[in-house]
Amino acid sequence: MFQSLSDRLSGIFDGLTGRGALSEDDVNKALREVRRALIEADVSLEVVRGFVEQVRDRAVGAEVTKSITPGQQVVKIVNDELVAVLGTEAVPLDLKSTPPVAVMMVGLQGAGKTTATGKIAKRLKEKQGKKVLLASLDTRRPAAMEQLKVLGDQVGVDTLEIIKGQSAVEIAKRAQKEAKLGGYDVLFLDTAGRTHIDEELMAETAEIKAATNPHEILLVADALTGQDAVNLARSFDERVAITGIMLTRIDGDGRGGAALSMRAVTGKPIKLLGTGEKLEDLEDFHPSRVADRILG
Ligand code: GDP
Repeated sequence: MFQSLSDRLSGIFDGLTGRGALSEDDVNKALREVRRALIEADVSLEVVRGFVEQVRDRAVGAEVTKSITPGQQVVKIVNDELVAVLGTEAVPLDLKSTPPVAVMMVGLQGAGKTTATGKIAKRLKEKQGKKVLLASLDTRRPAAMEQLKVLGDQVGVDTLEIIKGQSAVEIAKRAQKEAKLGGYDVLFLDTAGRTHIDEELMAETAEIKAATNPHEILLVADALTGQDAVNLARSFDERVAITGIMLTRIDGDGRGGAALSMRAVTGKPIKLLGTGEKLEDLEDFHPSRVADRILG
């Protein structure tokens, strides 16, 4: 379905071998293909523009080494630049604080927050022997609270008792108290999402943050978000200063351009990837793998 950047560029530089450096004209032709590849990979237009300019700066006048073709040279520059923007190494979830360490999960409804909470809780319990408490703050959807309870039972970690009639902030405070009293290492606050960003969602998220001061605020976003990724990441980051991003549905058809968009506008690390519906489907983020996927 997708054409790789290498394939796109292979025709462009025919007849160029033997020259020492990439000229501005060669680079412009190549950058048109780079732009197209990034847009097809769902990178936001705003981010594509900035990124292409960065690549141009590095590519014009770059020496073409004898061992590779000019096309390969451009692919290498694009790849290096992608990894530089995505982050050169994986940044793990930071739980180095006095327990119970609160991790707040934010994002739109259906992004995969609750599933992500279950996945991370499972990993922390099984790989690090952490005592984990889960709390759903979704007061509008009783089904979401039940869903978290079912996941907690599946994983074998505790969920905060559901008491009807409390506000999200009240539940969050109760969860913190319970986590402290119960000697928990980590507390997950699974916030309510909406189908789109609105003032009510942002105000509630900010209020929960102010009341609980979480150590990590993880924005959970669907990898297929596309052009909205920039707006989504910027809105949450401006309002609650996220500490990291988890991209879900990496197992889908998309190329994950949202990773580049979100990282570029917030500068916040992508920490984790959701790779399927099962609780085991959780991976650390590796910039080079995502860069390869974006370029095809
Ligand atoms: P929330 O509203 O943000 O809490 O989203 P949920 O956790 O309820 O997830 C919504 C749907 O997406 C569920 O059907 C999940 O099974 C599914 N889902 C979550 N993460 C992934 C993932 O990484 N890959 C796939 N294929 N599906 C996922």
